[in-house]
Amino acid sequence: MQEATEESALINIREKVLHDKRLTKEDGITLINCNNILFLGNLARNIKNKKTTDYVYFNVNRHINLTNICISRCKFCAFSCNKDDSDAYTMTVDEAVKTALESPKNMTELHIVSGLHPDKPFDYYVSVVKALKKELPNIHIKAFTAVEIDYFSKISSLSTKEVIQILKDAGVSSLPGGGAEIFNTEVRGKVCPRKATTKEWLDVVRTAHKLGLKSNATMLYGHIETLEDRIDHLIKVRELQDETGGFQTFIPLPFHSDNTELSYIKKPTAVENLKMIAISRLMLDNFDHIKAYWIMIGPKVAQLSLDFGADDIDGTITEEKITHAAGAQTDKFIEKNELIKMIKEMGRVPVERDTLYNVVRLYE
Ligand code: SF4
Repeated sequence: MQEATEESALINIREKVLHDKRLTKEDGITLINCNNILFLGNLARNIKNKKTTDYVYFNVNRHINLTNICISRCKFCAFSCNKDDSDAYTMTVDEAVKTALESPKNMTELHIVSGLHPDKPFDYYVSVVKALKKELPNIHIKAFTAVEIDYFSKISSLSTKEVIQILKDAGVSSLPGGGAEIFNTEVRGKVCPRKATTKEWLDVVRTAHKLGLKSNATMLYGHIETLEDRIDHLIKVRELQDETGGFQTFIPLPFHSDNTELSYIKKPTAVENLKMIAISRLMLDNFDHIKAYWIMIGPKVAQLSLDFGADDIDGTITEEKITHAAGAQTDKFIEKNELIKMIKEMGRVPVERDTLYNVVRLYE
């Protein structure tokens, strides 16, 4: 009887999806409890094909993490440390520029996220952006999560709007999607009580979008949240997208627990990761792009996820530190040719993009 009810709920969801009708929270819960991943994959792929045909996007980028010293010390984070820890570091402005200049040929993007440093003033971050822009005027700077911007506002006594405007004037052209973690207030209070609240994260992003900066959105799953929390998270992101239209990509991020305070939790399986990609695609009907972040799910699952609704496989990255601190077994960078091969093997057309999804080159 229960099976028959579930089957009819899934048929109803399929009808809605095929007729471009929005899925409800209850639909999301049905999907997240469904173990028929081929059903989920087929449905999500259908939407992906409608939105971005057989294109799969990637870019040539570099990650820079200015400091790993962080006052927040979130329970799920293996990257951060205290000021007096032996592995603590903070780049000078010159070091950040030197790192950026070592980037791959044809790089179009610098992705900059860092810890919440207890002493560095907001001016330091502005100086870094200005110096990078001076040396690399044509590179898109995607920098500072909503959590960092909220923190800059608190340490500078400027409003978040003022902070964003100053960063924009200095050379920041979009925001990454990190720091969203999971929006459930109780869970957030347990795993990251010292960082921006859900409301603060959403307010910063709303303000950035209104000031003309695009951003991404993420969700960290597979720690102490419930399946319902994941669906609620997707719906909150969807609501903000309805309001501003400023999100470009959604990136579901599976939790890696090594070296964290939650190290007893096993990382999500490949099936769970594929499911989250598919469900993100199905619930987020107002997002053009769903990203399979190969660093966190591994290149093989990222490749498979192209059949589960993903249309973006991230970039070359060049030097990833955050997930590797938490035990990621993937490489810290990937060659562009490798990304192209992964996409072509799935029968898709690799599209090298810039940060704003303008086509740099098609590899047909
Ligand atoms: S996740 Fe970000 S805010 Fe939290 S401890 Fe790590 S670096 Fe700091």
